[in-house]
Amino acid sequence: MERIEKASCGRMDHGGCGLLVYVEEGRVTKVKGDPDSFTRGYVCAKGLAHGERLYHPDRLKCPQRRVGGKGENRWKRISWDEAFETITEKLLACKNRSEPEKALFLQGTPRGLENMLLYRFAHSFGSPNVAATGTVCFAPRLGASILTTGFYPHPDLEHPPELILVWGANHLATSADGVLAPQVGLTVRKGSRYVLIDPRKTSLASKSEIHLQIKPGTDLLLALGMIKVILKEELYDREFVEKWTVGFEALGAHVGSYSLDEIEKETGISQEDIKRTSRLYAHAGSACILWGNAIDHTINNVQTARALLTLMA
Ligand code: SF4
Repeated sequence: MERIEKASCGRMDHGGCGLLVYVEEGRVTKVKGDPDSFTRGYVCAKGLAHGERLYHPDRLKCPQRRVGGKGENRWKRISWDEAFETITEKLLACKNRSEPEKALFLQGTPRGLENMLLYRFAHSFGSPNVAATGTVCFAPRLGASILTTGFYPHPDLEHPPELILVWGANHLATSADGVLAPQVGLTVRKGSRYVLIDPRKTSLASKSEIHLQIKPGTDLLLALGMIKVILKEELYDREFVEKWTVGFEALGAHVGSYSLDEIEKETGISQEDIKRTSRLYAHAGSACILWGNAIDHTINNVQTARALLTLMA
């Protein structure tokens, strides 16, 4: 007999879309979005595939040791005891050579306090080398935000702004933190205007009045170009600048060192489009920038985020 369980997709995201999980004879048969949850029935492709992931024959359920050459994909199942012994042996080998920093600790996306456990372990062991998915997913924007504004800004989408710049994000498809897709959907329905900055024609492109198909990795230049236009045409809030910012002259000098010709050539975005987008953004009664992981994937990720934070301010 089929039963329906309410659940949350928390393990694949920070938030967790509300799910309805259909179970028959102890097996998940179907997953749907829960319309009564705070995510209003939204579920992405990953969430829909929970059942498939759960029962997939390739799902890793126990430690394995590589028995072939690298890339041959040949593995042997081992016990947890053997796995721990092997790890201990290899870590001690680094330590005994007085080279603890040669151990690199890598992790996926831990949740909450789990995040700090590996850092603590690595640091007590003597290695500063810890990397995680966050290194190219959120951490650069978070670090840049704390450096620039002291906090991580996020717009109030429940009260939709007049204009939304979506920069390197595809929220309708991926719903970061399990909450953004329904919120973005709400802003679309309530009439927010959209500008999309993305090399790809995502589903938001058809809802945007401007789509800037930027060359990948040139986001920083485009952001500096927009700041340049906004400063040159004095479209910024002077009172805000005087009251809340430092280094405004230095910013002007920095963006002054780039020409719009150069920015157009590097980004693939015409000067007219840079000016049009800057004016639209600066003149909007209320506007925000929704950014995504694409910012973190650029070489200049922290500086790109800082330029975008400057635009947000
Ligand atoms: S958006 Fe995140 S939380 Fe929602 S279904 Fe997809 S993976 Fe799960």
